[in-house]
Amino acid sequence: MILWTNATFYSMEDCLLTYDKVLTNEGIIVALGNDTLKYSNYQTIDLKGSYVFPGFSESHLHLIGYGRKLFSNNLKLDINKESVLAKIKKFYKNEKLLIEGYVNIGITKDDLDLISSDNIIILRHNDYHSFTVNSKVLEMLNIKNSNGIILDDLVSSKITKVWESNDKVMLTKITDYAIKDLKKLGFTSVHTDDLSYFNSYDETIEILNLLSKTNNFRINTLIHHSVLDSFIKYYPNNKLLNPIQIKVFYDGTLSSKTALISENYKNSNNNGKRYITDKDFLNLLKKARSLSKGLAIHTIGDLAFSEVIKLLSLEKKASEMDRIVHGSLASDDLILELENIAIDIQPHFIKSDKEVIRKNINHQTNIYPFDKYNKKVIINTSSDAPVEDPNPLLNMYELNNISRFDMIKSYTINPYLTINKKGGLIKEGYYADFTCFDKDIMKIEKEELLNTKVLYTIIDEKM
Ligand SMILES: [Zn+2]
Repeated sequence: MILWTNATFYSMEDCLLTYDKVLTNEGIIVALGNDTLKYSNYQTIDLKGSYVFPGFSESHLHLIGYGRKLFSNNLKLDINKESVLAKIKKFYKNEKLLIEGYVNIGITKDDLDLISSDNIIILRHNDYHSFTVNSKVLEMLNIKNSNGIILDDLVSSKITKVWESNDKVMLTKITDYAIKDLKKLGFTSVHTDDLSYFNSYDETIEILNLLSKTNNFRINTLIHHSVLDSFIKYYPNNKLLNPIQIKVFYDGTLSSKTALISENYKNSNNNGKRYITDKDFLNLLKKARSLSKGLAIHTIGDLAFSEVIKLLSLEKKASEMDRIVHGSLASDDLILELENIAIDIQPHFIKSDKEVIRKNINHQTNIYPFDKYNKKVIINTSSDAPVEDPNPLLNMYELNNISRFDMIKSYTINPYLTINKKGGLIKEGYYADFTCFDKDIMKIEKEELLNTKVLYTIIDEKM
C-alpha cells in the first residue's frame, strides 16, 4: 500500500471536492482523506505540494505516427517556397527522404526532382491525408499524369504504404520515444489508432504490447475495421493494453474537399465524399455489436455527422458507446438531438483550419461548436497527434470558452466513460493513476497554464 501525501487531490466528481491524501493498493485507490487513517503498514510518498488530478488520457492520436513526427525532418509549417526548398535540400542525404509539417504551397514533382529523382522524396501535408512526391515515387507506384501533388485519397493510401514502410526495430524505437514524451506531458493513457497502417496487425500489436509493459503505460487501441478479423483471432492478454472501439472513416477532410458537407464547396459543384455505403456501415455496426463494441467514426462534415447519427440510431445500444472522431461541422438541429455519444474534439483545429475553411466553405453551419454540445454528450479533448501538439495545457489555453472543470473532465473522466473502465476519478475503486502539476490548473489564469509544469506522472501506482 502507498499513502500519497502533501498534495491537493481533485476528485473530479465535482469541481470543489478535494482530498489531502490518498491511499492506493495494487493499482487501485482504496481510501481518501481521513478514511486513510484506518489503515497502517503502508509506504508514504510525499508529492511536494503538487496539484493532483486523475491520470490524463489523450483520447485520439496515432501513437506510432507521433513517434515518427518526433524523429522526422519537419518543415514546421513554413510557407515561404524558397526557404522550404532550401530546407528540403538540406534534409536530403542521398537516401529516401520523408518530410512532415508541409503546408501545400504548390511545390510540384519538378521542384523535388531538382533535389533528387533517384531517391524517394515525400512531403506529407499537414492534414496527414495528402502528399507531394517526386517522380521517383510516381514511377514506383505507376501513377500517371500527376504533377506530384496527391490529394486523391485512393492514391494517398498507396503513398502512405511507402511512407510507413519501416522495420520492427525502428517502429519500436519511435513508439517508445512517443510514449516517454507523452508521460512527460502528464498522460497516463492513450486511445490510439495504429493497428492497420504498418507492416502487419500482429507486428504492430506486439510492439504496443511490449512497450505498454516496459513503460508501464496504458494503451487503448482502436481496432481499424480492416484488421477486425485479425483482432478476433488474436489480442494479447495484458492489463495495460485494451481494445476499444472499431474505427471506420465516413468522409474525408476539409482541405481536400472530401469532408461531406450539406452544401457545395466554394466555387465547385461537389459537396464531399462518402467513404462507406449505408449497407457496409450497418453490417460493420452489427458486427461491432456482436463483439460488444462501439464504433469510432471519422466524421468531419455536417452532412456526414447527421447521416452517421441516423445510421447509429438503427442499432443503438446503451452498453456500447460510439464515438465521433472530429465532429468538426454540425448543424443546430443535430446539436440539439445528440445524446449518449462521445465526440473526440481537437481545439487546435480552430486555428489551424481557419484558412482552409475560409477558402473552401460557406459559413452557414456551426464550425467546431465544442461549447454548444449538451451534457448528454461526452466531450474528449485530443490532438490527433501527429497532426497537432498533444500538450494538454496548450489545448486548455486554446479552448477557453469551456469551463476549466469541463475541460479537465474532457481529459480525465470523459475518456474513461467512453471506454467503460474505472479510471478518470480520484475515488475508491478507481485506477491509481495521477497527473501532478506544480500549479492549480483548476484555478489559475489562462496565461499561467503556459508556465505550468507536470511534476509527476503516476500510473498503476508507480511514479
Ligand atoms: Zn486521427
